[in-house]
Amino acid sequence: MPELEAPAPSDPRVIVSGRSTAENLTGNWRTLRPSIDAARCTGCLICWKYCPEACVALTEKVPVIDYSYCKGCGICVEECPTRCIGFAPEEAA
Ligand code: SF4
Ligand code: SF4
Repeated sequence: MPELEAPAPSDPRVIVSGRSTAENLTGNWRTLRPSIDAARCTGCLICWKYCPEACVALTEKVPVIDYSYCKGCGICVEECPTRCIGFAPEEAA
């Protein structure tokens, strides 16, 4: 009979949680903030596809970043084919 629950990790640095990722708000530790230049955005949605936090929302044309969950990783900035996502220090955004 297979175990239904994962065994407790032997490494104390590993934390196993069954809680929803909807609780993983970024808080105030993000240092860089992406921002989309709507005038140059083609609506290709590559940023939506690559965002590991799934915090880029689909819209009619220009996607919208949910800063409550954006971790500032910069993947969308790197992947945007038109380079229209700026990446500025959080305090200057
Ligand atoms: S910076 Fe990272 S987390 Fe934030 S919207 Fe871009 S890909 Fe998603
Ligand atoms: S990847 Fe760039 S051009 Fe494509 S939808 Fe996102 S912001 Fe717009």
